Amino acid sequence: MSSNHVIPSYLDHSHLGPWGVYLEQIDRVTPYLGHLSRWVETLKRPKRILIVDVPIERDDGTVAHFEGYRVQHNLSRGPGKGGVRFHQDVTLSEVMALSAWMTVKNAAVNVPYGGAKGGIRVDPKTLSKGELQRMTRRYTSEIGIIIGPNKDIPAPDVNTNEQTMAWMMDTYSMNVGGTATGVVTGKPISLGGSLGRREATGRGVYVVGCEAAIKRGMEIKGSRIAVQGFGNVGGTAARLFAEAGAKVVAVQDHVATVYSEGGLDVPALLAHVEANGSVAGFAAEAVLTSEQFWGVNCDILIPAALEQQINAGNAHRIRAKIILEGANGPTTPEADDILHDKGVLIVPDVIANAGGVTVSYFEWVQDFSSFFWSEDEINQRLTRIMREAFNSIWHVAEEHKTSFRTAAFIVACTRVLQAREVRGLYP
Ligand code: GLU
Repeated sequence: MSSNHVIPSYLDHSHLGPWGVYLEQIDRVTPYLGHLSRWVETLKRPKRILIVDVPIERDDGTVAHFEGYRVQHNLSRGPGKGGVRFHQDVTLSEVMALSAWMTVKNAAVNVPYGGAKGGIRVDPKTLSKGELQRMTRRYTSEIGIIIGPNKDIPAPDVNTNEQTMAWMMDTYSMNVGGTATGVVTGKPISLGGSLGRREATGRGVYVVGCEAAIKRGMEIKGSRIAVQGFGNVGGTAARLFAEAGAKVVAVQDHVATVYSEGGLDVPALLAHVEANGSVAGFAAEAVLTSEQFWGVNCDILIPAALEQQINAGNAHRIRAKIILEGANGPTTPEADDILHDKGVLIVPDVIANAGGVTVSYFEWVQDFSSFFWSEDEINQRLTRIMREAFNSIWHVAEEHKTSFRTAAFIVACTRVLQAREVRGLYP
């Protein structure tokens, strides 16, 4: 890592994790930012970090404390926007990186938001529904001082969903004494949620996958797909690719890896996961070790789980021609280089999974105007935005002869820093 990285003193410098990956990505884009590089320091430090204690009363009468975060990385282009994650491995460095990737993502697809992210360090599977509700509500109250429909708008992420958003919206609304639907997105339809939001991230992955296949002269029909992570993103993307005639040959989740040479029955696998919480136990042709997954013979690989899954340790074994980053930060910079040298086309997270926040933007606009669009209209607008972003970034990559990731960062960071520059410093 180069010496001009600015690492906040409150982070453990030996374990930067995803934040270190993000800083490296910023170093790689800096030479392409021209006079705007004067402002690049802005991108290397979050604007605002809130760490909150989240105490709840457990069902057995004891009191448990959880660590909660909300990080607003950048607000130059608009209010903060980004999900809330419940996971036992959540750390400040991770939430910082995720908030920064939201800044880049929102600018890459040109939705008028800054970047933010939140999380609670908890394994939600260890909580009852009542405990989960109390934790979500207390967390919302604690971060209530910095969120709001015009300030920072949370949404679902890993292990959070429409119900989580309903509790957050209700808690915020009760606290401010009015109904504030626009404070979160990814809400239930009955509460001002948007049609198409639930599957938007997976749909966006599918749309950019089709564009990438065109660039590589590849047919989706008959192509072989491997998916890591079978939650909302991986599951929806797998279903859409299968519906288009692709063979989803391997699926890995946090428990097991299932494989079928001729293609897994995706609807049956989705039903199995719905009933059992994992792909484990599905009647597949073969069960692979988690290591074998990375060497599977496939055309398209979709990491749709957590960060740093594709790294120097497994990148050499990957046989895919295209990688679609459904997850945030799944590929380390070392793996980026290895795969680039192998000629693999990586469609980076900040474009590949931007469908979710794009429809979040539609939801927020619909809430403000109290006028709701049809699902067709939403999917059409989503597809158009994703295609346009993909192709304009593709041109930048060709023009500067950079990776697709660096090109996405050139487009996005230029937008953010132009806003930064023209706003000027206050006071
Ligand atoms: N959590 C999603 C993401 O990582 C969606 C964020 C949003 O809709 O605000 O992009």
